[in-house]
Amino acid sequence: MTDDDRDSEPTMATPAAPIDIERESALFLMRVSDELSLTHNGIDKLCSATQWFIDSVSESVADSVQQHLSKSGISISENDIKEVCHPGEVFGKLSSRYYRESYFEDAFNYVKPEPICLGTEWEWVTKNGQQILQQIQQYEYYIDVFATLKGYDLTLADGEVLKVYGAVVCAVGDVPASNFLGGFKEGVGFALRKCRMCLAVKEDMAVKFNADSFIERTLEQHKEYLDLIEIGGQRHSVTYGINNRSPLINLAGIDINKCLPYDIMHTLFEAVAIHHLQALLKHVIDVKKYLTLAQLNSGLRTYEYSHLEVKPSPITKDDNSYHIKQSVHFINSLACQMMNLVRLLPFLIGKFIDDDDHWECFLILRSICDMVCSFEVHPDNPAKLAWL
Ligand SMILES: [Zn+2]
Repeated sequence: MTDDDRDSEPTMATPAAPIDIERESALFLMRVSDELSLTHNGIDKLCSATQWFIDSVSESVADSVQQHLSKSGISISENDIKEVCHPGEVFGKLSSRYYRESYFEDAFNYVKPEPICLGTEWEWVTKNGQQILQQIQQYEYYIDVFATLKGYDLTLADGEVLKVYGAVVCAVGDVPASNFLGGFKEGVGFALRKCRMCLAVKEDMAVKFNADSFIERTLEQHKEYLDLIEIGGQRHSVTYGINNRSPLINLAGIDINKCLPYDIMHTLFEAVAIHHLQALLKHVIDVKKYLTLAQLNSGLRTYEYSHLEVKPSPITKDDNSYHIKQSVHFINSLACQMMNLVRLLPFLIGKFIDDDDHWECFLILRSICDMVCSFEVHPDNPAKLAWL
């Protein structure tokens, strides 16, 4: 259709589909309770507070409409205006917890978390001014992932109804948990091939630094390795770093070598960043003598941390390290402390450093850390990572 055709066509106002207030209200409650982690009591209070707010706003709108109409000489009864402006009880039966839960289940295929009793413990509680011992049951909640994948009907704007199914696209865990989930060896110390995404052996990991220097694992190969392991046993299991066939493989569309992303806590902040910083501190403190360890620790001690930042532990120096037979700066930090240390180091010691290649290299590591920790990722970012 050309623009001319469009101009010449009479504009036909399509009647707006009536808004299903109950569904919209239920979606609102689901979204807010999820974002704010509200309890059932919290949702009840949210319903009454929101209704009060809507009542106040609609009353003010009705007054304003009344004033404008009377200025224009139109007289309509106050009650009629209020009836038009007031949306009524927006939550209706959704204010009741039991109705709400059954509505969520029916309308949105909501899968109810199943409570699993982990055990009981005794706790002193005060009842009617008296201290009594009470048995408390501790629960965890299990959500049946497969139940969340069952199809539901999606009605398109033209009335066509499509059946839509969910799919598992990735499973998130730390390194040992993800290895376990994928059927790989949890501890890779004795495995020849140590990575669940590529076929790297220990020597490769020490000398190769670019992703394209490694051979990626593929799902077809993985299935062949599993066949070998199931027939031949232990030897192939050690060669490929695989223990058993993960049930995840049976899910349609899942690639076991790609769907278990590495966690930055173990791989970056508890590994690469610590080694990198130890080497950097040796260079800037012992070799170049830009600053002393005391100056760095004083910076760490006196920096004004925000309530979100975990203060890094002081760095100590061990002259008797047996491992690398030379003095080493010990960074005994948790991943969250390490994250702060990497981020803050330029502010703490940047002023002492001259033009220095090792420092430039650290700034690249810092950019990588910034990028992998960001809440939003742009499609260009992986390319930038490769460039770094
Ligand atoms: Zn790898």
